[in-house]
Amino acid sequence: MGVAARRLNVLVTLVLVTGCGHADDVLSVDNYSCSSVPRPANASLPLTTFSDDWFQVYETANGVFSIVEPYQLQETISHLIVGKDRALLFDTGVGLLSIKAVVERITSLPVIVLNSHTHYDHVGGNWEFSTVLAIDSDYTRSNMEGFENSRISGDFSPNAFCKGAPQGSDPVSFYTKPWKQSRYVQDGEVLDLGGRKLEVLHVPGHTPDAVALLDAENRLLFSGDSWYDASLWLFVQETSLTDYEASISRLAALESEVDFLLGAHNSARVDAGRLQAVVKAFHRIRAGDYAGEGDDYNRLAIEIDGVRILTTQSALDGEQGDISNGGSGLDTWPD
Ligand SMILES: [Zn+2]
Repeated sequence: MGVAARRLNVLVTLVLVTGCGHADDVLSVDNYSCSSVPRPANASLPLTTFSDDWFQVYETANGVFSIVEPYQLQETISHLIVGKDRALLFDTGVGLLSIKAVVERITSLPVIVLNSHTHYDHVGGNWEFSTVLAIDSDYTRSNMEGFENSRISGDFSPNAFCKGAPQGSDPVSFYTKPWKQSRYVQDGEVLDLGGRKLEVLHVPGHTPDAVALLDAENRLLFSGDSWYDASLWLFVQETSLTDYEASISRLAALESEVDFLLGAHNSARVDAGRLQAVVKAFHRIRAGDYAGEGDDYNRLAIEIDGVRILTTQSALDGEQGDISNGGSGLDTWPD
């Protein structure tokens, strides 16, 4: 059965996105505005003096600085976790301006970079750092070559900025610079920052190289794009819903051990207790007990008990696309 025919099997509800409470959820460049920033969760956090016109830096826990880029539609968040001997930067943002300059305002300790995954909006500043840890996968190695302008330019059009592109940036010719790993990390590895330990959890699904970090002593779970407080994007070719379901179940099983979830978009910190609902939503999806709403990009928006997932019929059918050139996060399925 062809892809087009399979799509017809999905129950498509004709409810506008803005008609069912998703209005604060940016699903495309066309409906992005500054009206939803700062997110309420961020507005309730202490905003630090490390902030500037582009990066808003919140202290989300003792020794944790969440670096938000709220004025581009991705609202990407990179978390700097500071120990006694070194700091770990979990993602490096979109890369339009130097995140290293921000990090150096916060700490003079040596900085290790690890990415929650290697989509363009999380690796933009990797090239600025000499110590970068990575998952050992062909997908990751492809993404280390960077993303040329044509693969990501849609997210740097004038509409992608809610108050214009930042001063000192060149959004028209912007591309993701290549970077290299210093060494590979494995699932279960513990990174010791001195007085602070982070366990690496390899949680494939959103991408093959998705990672979460558990700071057990401080009861924090850095969930990357495996979970953040908005519609979960699970529609690109490298996404595996089978892997995602296993990974989100694994993270949900840890949730009682933490107080806060720190994701990679929108809200820098929310109270724990959100992941079991995602697991339940997947059980419903697997049972075919859901309604999907199609959009102009061949995506399906599914909402189950407040959990919003943006996926595709191909992903629901268990297919993965061609990822021989990696995936920027914006390389969707061909029509
Ligand atoms: Zn992302």
